[in-house]
Amino acid sequence: MTPWAGYAGFAAVLLTAYTLTLVTGAPQSVTDALGLMGLLGGLAAMLYGIRRHRPRSRWPWLLVLGQSLVLSSFAMPPGVMYGGRVPSVGDVVLLGANAVGVLALLLIVRRRSPGWDLPGLIDAAILTVAAVLLSWIYVLEPIVGGSADLYTRTVAAAYPLSDLLLAALGARLLLDAGPKPVAVLSVTGYLVLVIVPDTMSTLATLSGDQRWRAAAAPLWTASALLLGMTGMHPSLRDVDAPVTGTAQDLGPGRLAALAVASLLAPAALLVQYLRGARLHVPLVCVSCGILFLLVIGRLAGLVAVQRRMAVTDELTGLRTRRFFQGVLGGPVKPTAVVLLDVDHFKRVNDTYGHDAGDRVLREVARRISGAVRGGDVVARYGGEEFAVLLPNATPEEARAIAARMHGAVRATPITVSDTAAITVTVSAGVACTPADLPEPGTLPLVADRFLYQAKNAGRDRVVAS
Ligand code: GH3
Ligand code: MG
Ligand code: MG
Repeated sequence: MTPWAGYAGFAAVLLTAYTLTLVTGAPQSVTDALGLMGLLGGLAAMLYGIRRHRPRSRWPWLLVLGQSLVLSSFAMPPGVMYGGRVPSVGDVVLLGANAVGVLALLLIVRRRSPGWDLPGLIDAAILTVAAVLLSWIYVLEPIVGGSADLYTRTVAAAYPLSDLLLAALGARLLLDAGPKPVAVLSVTGYLVLVIVPDTMSTLATLSGDQRWRAAAAPLWTASALLLGMTGMHPSLRDVDAPVTGTAQDLGPGRLAALAVASLLAPAALLVQYLRGARLHVPLVCVSCGILFLLVIGRLAGLVAVQRRMAVTDELTGLRTRRFFQGVLGGPVKPTAVVLLDVDHFKRVNDTYGHDAGDRVLREVARRISGAVRGGDVVARYGGEEFAVLLPNATPEEARAIAARMHGAVRATPITVSDTAAITVTVSAGVACTPADLPEPGTLPLVADRFLYQAKNAGRDRVVAS
C-alpha cells in the first residue's frame, strides 16, 4: 500500500467517525478529539508531502497550510462567533487566513499559467460570473442591506468576497490547459470545502438557523483532510508546473460546467419569480449580458482555431492543398505554379525511419519558404510534394524562383539523426500563364507534367516550358 492510499483510508475512516459522533450526539470530548485528529492529520500530511515530494516552490503550500490551520481550528469549538456579528480579533485572523489562501492560489496559478491562456480564462470567468450572481442574491445583498452598522456589514461582507476570490482562482486552476492529477483535483476540492462551510456559517448568521453551522463542522474537518491528501500524493510536485498551450478544447465535462453556469442566471430569476420573491431583473440582465459576451468570445476563438487548422498543414506549417486550390480559383490571378517533389524520399524513410523523414519534410518546407517572395503561396500538396503559387511573375521570374528553391533545398545536408546528415534534392515543374495555357485553374496539371519530365530526365532539376 502506498503512503497515499494509507492516508486516504485514514482520512475516510476518521471523517466517517467524526460525522457519526456529530450525528449521534456523542460526548463533546470525543467529537473534539476526532476533529483535532483530523486537523492535525491533514496538516501533518501536507508537511510530510512538502518534504517528501519537494514541490517546485514550498511557499504556496506553506501558505495554504497556514490558512487551513487557522480556518479549521477556529471552526472547531462549536458556537464560536464569527462571520461579522462582532468585528473581533477572530475576524482579523480569519479574514487574514483567507487573504493568505488567496495569495497562495495566486502564486500557484501564476506559476502554472505564465501566459494568458485566454480560453481557460474565459471559462473561469463564466463560472465566476455565475458564482458572483448567486453570492450577491443569497449572501452579499442580505448582508449589505442588513440593519447592522456599516463597519459590521463591511466585515461580514468580506467573508463571501474572499470566498469569491478563492472560487475564481479555483476555477482558473481547474479550467486551465494543464493536466489534472490528483493533487490538482484535491486542492480544488479543498477550496470547495473552505468556501461551502464558510458560506453556511454566514447563512447561519443571516438566518439565525444554527443547523447551518452544525452541518458545516464536518466539512471543515474534511477540508483539512483533503489538503493532507494533496500533500500525500506524488503529483503535488507538478501542481505548479508551467502549462503549455491553451484550454481551447471543449470536452463534455467542461461544456456541461459552462452550460450549467450560463443557465444559473436565468434560473435564479425564474426561481424568484415562481416563489413570488423580489426579482433581481437588472442584476440578472447584466449577468446574462456578460455571460453571452464571454460565450461568444469563446466561440470566436474556437472558430478562429478551426479555420486556422483547416488551412495549415500540421507537419510543416505550410498551407494545405485545400487552401492552395481555394487561392487558385480566387480573385488573385496566379501567373505561375511550381510543383516540387522530393527525390527518392522513400529511401529516407526506409534508411532513417519515418521520424527522420518528417524532419526532412519540415526542413525542405522551411527552405522552400525561404526562397519565395512575400505574396507567394507555399502549400504541402501531398506527402512529399509541394506546390508554390506565384502571382504577378513573368516566366523568367518564375523560372528564377524555382531555381532558387531547388538550390536552397540541396545547398546543405539535412540532419536526419544524431550522427547523420544527408543531401536532399527535389525535382520541379514550372507552369506559366499565358505561355503554357490561358486558364490558371489548370496550371498544376501542366506543372505536374513538367515535374514528371524532370523525374524522367534523372531528377534533381527544374523543367519549365
Ligand atoms: P521519386 O524520386 O520518384 O519521387 O521517389 P520517392 O521515393 O520520393 O517517391 P514515392 O512517391 O514512391 O514515395 C513517397 C514516399 O513519401 C512514400 C511515403 O511513405 C512517404 N511519405 C508521404 N507522406 C509522408 C510523411 O508525412 N512523412 C514521412 N516520413 N513520409 C511520408
Ligand atoms: Mg518523391
Ligand atoms: Mg511523390
